[in-house]
Amino acid sequence: MKYTYDFMNDDQKALVDLVHEVLTAKLDPQVAELDQKGEFPWDVYNELGKVGFWAMDVPAEYGGLGLDCLTVCLVREALGYHDAGFACSFSASTFGIKPVLLYGNEEQKQYYGKKLAEGVISAQLLTEPQSGSDVANMLTTAVKDGDSYVINGRKTFVTNGGLAGIYTVAAVTAPADPANGKKRPEISLFIVDRDVPGVSVGKEENKMGIRLSNTTDVVFENVRVPAANLIGEEGHGMEYVGTLLARTRPTGMAPALGLGQKALDLAVEYCRTRETKGAPIGMLQAIQFKLADMQIQLQAARSQLLYNAQMIDAGTYSTPMGSITKAFVSEAVMHVADQALQIYGGYGYSREYPVEKLYRDARIFSIFEGTNEIQRQIVGRDVVGRLKKKA
Ligand SMILES: Cc1cc2nc3c(=O)[nH]c(=O)nc-3n(C[C@H](O)[C@H](O)[C@H](O)COP(=O)(O)OP(=O)(O)OC[C@H]3O[C@@H](n4cnc5c(N)ncnc54)[C@H](O)[C@@H]3O)c2cc1C
Repeated sequence: MKYTYDFMNDDQKALVDLVHEVLTAKLDPQVAELDQKGEFPWDVYNELGKVGFWAMDVPAEYGGLGLDCLTVCLVREALGYHDAGFACSFSASTFGIKPVLLYGNEEQKQYYGKKLAEGVISAQLLTEPQSGSDVANMLTTAVKDGDSYVINGRKTFVTNGGLAGIYTVAAVTAPADPANGKKRPEISLFIVDRDVPGVSVGKEENKMGIRLSNTTDVVFENVRVPAANLIGEEGHGMEYVGTLLARTRPTGMAPALGLGQKALDLAVEYCRTRETKGAPIGMLQAIQFKLADMQIQLQAARSQLLYNAQMIDAGTYSTPMGSITKAFVSEAVMHVADQALQIYGGYGYSREYPVEKLYRDARIFSIFEGTNEIQRQIVGRDVVGRLKKKA
């Protein structure tokens, strides 16, 4: 953790230390069992609430802690050091409010902010069984009926789907009409309380990694919400989601840094004690080069992520920069976890040792928040610029 600490001011250090203190006492002792069962630790979530971490990235005027993006990333990295799944769920607990903060009205900000500050978890619902990367292919509809919208559809792979009290749901409010030049449907965003009739939580995913994070389907059957629950303007959902992802994509990778640091720390510890031919394997250049590469990758990933966080704090929401960060950090951390497992040799492959879990947990970061293929598409288009076919 040496380099992160060099970078932090005293307030940030105090917050990060507090996270480590709470999670070392409350999460570490039960993490292996929770990983096996695939359970979210509500007790740890509540403990973090007691010391003030709920709604940490919600502005103080709406009831949150009002931390800047940089500090939030440092806290998320610390959470990820103890468990990436818990860190992802904790981070995503405020993702639902992001579009409201950017495009919602004052009343919505107050409503949402207060709920999150009370510990209510939010979730962001875009993906559907037939549409992940191809978001515009969503089938969930929201039909205006007097002063309400009626929502029907199924969302899948929802982080915190079974834990959340509030959902931010993307739905089609006007279908595509190719004959009239409208290639894509109009999508809008809505706030939906979980206890509204017609909302139900569907199947829970039995995941390979981040098993402390809850991931479920959420189903909407004739769910009637007041028109006041529309976020921003009707039909602007995709534009809002684009801006939103420029923010949540890079910062959502912060838990991966903690995971990577844990993998590196464990590998260093192991190579000091594991011996071959009477000497620690840490004396071998082959192992030192691996550790050096892990350190280089991790430090570069951290620098990129914290740089991106500072851009966001300065009000610059760059989609290509978010994609660069997302792809680089996720791949660096996969490499670090993979190499840690290699350094452990056969024991790395055993569930009795901790690196196997880190390897499984690391795999998600190149998939969610938009796959790394999609990130490369965004970066590639940005680098090349707008080109046209010859007539
Ligand atoms: C643990 C977990 C948590 C998640 N949390 C959430 C959440 O909270 N909210 C939410 O809305 N979603 C969530 N997701 C969904 C996630 O964002 C999607 O899984 C992801 O966007 C990919 O969509 P897909 O799974 O449908 O894959 P597909 O889009 O079907 O992609 C399949 C493969 O094809 C590639 N591909 C697709 N299109 C292109 C293209 N145009 N160019 C090149 N390659 C392409 C992809 O990169 C991938 O390799 C979560 C997923 C997981 C696994």
